[in-house]
Amino acid sequence: MAAPLIPAKGTTAVPLITARAVSHFYGHGALRKQILHDIDLAIEPGEIVIMTGPSGSGKTTLLTLIGALRSAQQGSLQVLGHELRDAGEEQLIAVRRSIGYIFQSHNLMRSLNAQENVELGLEIQPLSPAERRERARAALESVGLGDRRHHFPDQMSGGQKQRVAIARALAPRPKLILADEPTASLDKQSGRDVVDLMNDLARRQRCSVLLVTHDNRILDIADRIVHLEDGRLQSFAAAVSTDAQRMLDALVHTTRENDIAERVQGLADEAFATFLAQVTQEFEQLLRVMQLSGSDAFESMLEQVLEAFTLRIGRMLKADRATLFVVDREHGFLWSKVADQAGLIKLAIGQGIAGRVAATGEVMNVADAYQEPLFNRRIDDESGYRTRTMLCMPVKDAAGTTFAVMQLLNKADGALFDTNDEKHFAHVAGRMGVILQAWAQMARRAVVEPPEEAA
Ligand code: ADP
Ligand code: MG
Repeated sequence: MAAPLIPAKGTTAVPLITARAVSHFYGHGALRKQILHDIDLAIEPGEIVIMTGPSGSGKTTLLTLIGALRSAQQGSLQVLGHELRDAGEEQLIAVRRSIGYIFQSHNLMRSLNAQENVELGLEIQPLSPAERRERARAALESVGLGDRRHHFPDQMSGGQKQRVAIARALAPRPKLILADEPTASLDKQSGRDVVDLMNDLARRQRCSVLLVTHDNRILDIADRIVHLEDGRLQSFAAAVSTDAQRMLDALVHTTRENDIAERVQGLADEAFATFLAQVTQEFEQLLRVMQLSGSDAFESMLEQVLEAFTLRIGRMLKADRATLFVVDREHGFLWSKVADQAGLIKLAIGQGIAGRVAATGEVMNVADAYQEPLFNRRIDDESGYRTRTMLCMPVKDAAGTTFAVMQLLNKADGALFDTNDEKHFAHVAGRMGVILQAWAQMARRAVVEPPEEAA
C-alpha cells in the first residue's frame, strides 16, 4: 500500500462541525413532518465535503442548520465551537459571522457594483474603510475579476456573478464556506471554473467547505462525499466513524449482504457514475485511515466490487463481454482475475491486443478481430465464443504508466466501438482509479509464478 496515503495514527484535528443525532421537523401538530433523521457528521478544518442527494432529501435544511440560519431542534450540533441546539438569535448571528455562504443564485445586490458587493461582506469586520476597499479589491483579483470591479451584476455573465459571490464569501476569511448548488444556474464550463476557483481559494485559506450539488462532474474536488437520502446520511465511513476494524467489517458485510453486483447492475448510467464516485471516495478514505495490506477480507471485497463495476461498465458501453487486466511490469505480463469468462487469462506484455495496449499505453479499437494479426483466436477456439469487435483501453496512474487494461468485446447490434466509448470509459476509469490501484497492488503480490503461456 502506498505509504503517503496513511497519516500517522492519532492525528486528530478538532472538528469544525460536529453533528450528533440531529433531527429536524417542519410544521406543527398533525402537519409536523420529520425531514432529517439522526444526522451524524463531523467536518474537520480544511476539509472539503460534498453532499449529494435527491431533491427534497433535506440538503438545504441541513445546510441552514449548520449555517446557523435556524436553530437545531434535536440532537447536538456544534459549529465553530458553538452549540446550536436551541440556540438564541444572538448566538446564531455570532456563528454566521464566521461563515461564508454561496447560494444557487448569486444573491448580489443589483444596485451595487462588484467591489461594493464584496465590501458589503466585509462590513462586520473590524477594518477601516481603506482596508476594506483593499481587501475587496484583492478578493476580486483572486477570482480573476480585477478589471471588472466597477461592473454591476446586470453587466456580468452568470459565471462572473458567481465568482463575485465567491469573492464576497471568502474575503472575510471565514473558517467555513457553505455552498448550496452553486453551479446549478451555470453552464458546464462556467460551473467547472467556479468550483475549481472556490476549491483553490478554500484550500489556500485552509477553509472548510460543505458543498451541496447535483452536479456529478465536480465531485472530484471533494475530500469526502456524503449522501443524503430521505433525510438520512449514507456513507460506509460515516456510519462506522473511527473504529477501523468495525469499518472494514461493515464494508465487507455491506458488499456481501447487499450483493453489490446486483445493486450496481440495476442502476441507471448516471446513478452508477455517482455511486462509483462515492465508493471510490470511501475507499480512498479507508485507505487513508487503515493499514489494509494482507487483509483477505479486504481483498475479496475489492474483487467483488471491481467485478461488479467491470460488468456494469461493459453494459454501459454496450459490450457483450468485459474483462479487466492488471499489468505486472516486473514480471512482464498481465492477467485478469476480473472477467466474465471463466478462469484467469494470462498474457505477456507486448503480445496479443491487450498485451500491446499494456506495452504502448494506446487504445486499440478493432473493427474485426479475425482480420487483426495481433488477435489470438485460440481463446475463441477453446471457448466457442466468436469475437468480432474489440475495444482495448489502458488505465493509467498519475505518472502515466499503464497499470490496468480494460477489454470490451462485441458491441451490441454489430455496431463498432467509437471514440465516445473511449471517452466514456476514460471518465469512469478516472473515478475508479483508487480502487483499481489498490487492487492492482494486491493482485500483483498475490500472483508469484510467471505465465506458462502467451496469447
Ligand atoms: P433539498 O435541498 O434536498 O432539495 P430541502 O431541505 O429543501 O431539500 O427540503 C426537504 C423537505 O422539507 C422537502 O420535502 C421540503 O418540501 C420540505 N421543506 C423545506 N423547507 C420547508 C419549510 N420551510 N416548511 C415546510 N417544509 C419544508
Ligand atoms: Mg436544496
